[in-house]
Amino acid sequence: MLTQSEQPMEIIKASDMGFCFGVRRAVEMMEREAEGGLPIVSLGSVVHNPQVVGRLRERGLDVISTLDDADGRRLAITAHGVGPSVIEAAARRGLEVVDTTCPIVTRAQRWARKLVEEGFAVIVYGDPEHKETKGIVGWAGGKAYTLRSENDIASLPADLPSRVGVLVQTTHTEANFASFVNKLLATRMHQISELRVINTLCNATTGQQAAARALAHEVDLMVVVGGKESANTRHLREVCEEEGTRAYHIETPEELEPEWFAGIARVGVTAGASTPDSAVESVIARLEAIAGNAPPDRQEAEVSPLPLLRDLIAGRMPSTDADGLTADERERIERWRRATLEERGRALVGLLRTGSRIGRLPPEQPIFPGFRATMCAKRPGND
Ligand code: SF4
Repeated sequence: MLTQSEQPMEIIKASDMGFCFGVRRAVEMMEREAEGGLPIVSLGSVVHNPQVVGRLRERGLDVISTLDDADGRRLAITAHGVGPSVIEAAARRGLEVVDTTCPIVTRAQRWARKLVEEGFAVIVYGDPEHKETKGIVGWAGGKAYTLRSENDIASLPADLPSRVGVLVQTTHTEANFASFVNKLLATRMHQISELRVINTLCNATTGQQAAARALAHEVDLMVVVGGKESANTRHLREVCEEEGTRAYHIETPEELEPEWFAGIARVGVTAGASTPDSAVESVIARLEAIAGNAPPDRQEAEVSPLPLLRDLIAGRMPSTDADGLTADERERIERWRRATLEERGRALVGLLRTGSRIGRLPPEQPIFPGFRATMCAKRPGND
């Protein structure tokens, strides 16, 4: 697609986006546990991303919605955390718990408990239906007021205790939280003798929001990639729109409509904290196709992590069992396994073009029946 100025559409990725440390940690913990062989179930989806959940399912990690379905299997708590009543109920059933709660969420839970112990009324600014918020409220002994928006401040009881502690769902935006606290002060100051505001926002998401905001200024349209249920992805879309930039929240590349990009010269791409790199890359590949740009080298490099190269050089099918692989590397290896011969060949040619040193491939390469050439590529001056 050429724009009005007959220039190809430029696609720019946000400087900070995608898998956060908490989600990466949770997924890796689950993978390790699933590969250990003992049956394991996760209480709800590990992350708000169907592709990641699907991959874990393939490895044998079942997703259940109530403890009744655990059937004696080990129980994984997801990165969003749960209230103490869930842990107690699991213990009563004799279930072994694998807790992948993100440490930043754990901090918010601890603050909830501490505020209640110190006699504060606890307000949680967040989505009352979100798993993380429910867990935090659980740690407040169920006594917290969960308010979805600053308009809900009006619903607080007239006899609100005079010592008030405020927490925020970790993935909210700084601007919204500041505005919420301001409104609470402006409307309830007469009732409050002590106000303790605990900033439980997550740095990973505020950093991604800042990067999305900055990019939204530079482009004509933003594409936000992530699960439809993901709160932090929804907030990314909000911050883009706050900058006056049209933004679409999509989960898969198929949702991109070519007509969105008519007359667009620059499109920005960002992704939520539970969106794997592969999901972003597939969206970018489709954007390139819609734009009519040349196929990007990144598609070829996508299946070329170093562990994969090591195996290729040794003439082996790459293994996902090797120690020290990240979730992303495992996923790339799996993609390599699924790739057609032609796709694998293209990936290798891409590596040669970009000057990667891949060494000498055996001429009788078993995973490349039609690819008999002996190849050696070196970076310039790298002998
Ligand atoms: S977004 Fe932040 S709080 Fe949520 S899992 Fe990631 S690092 Fe943890």
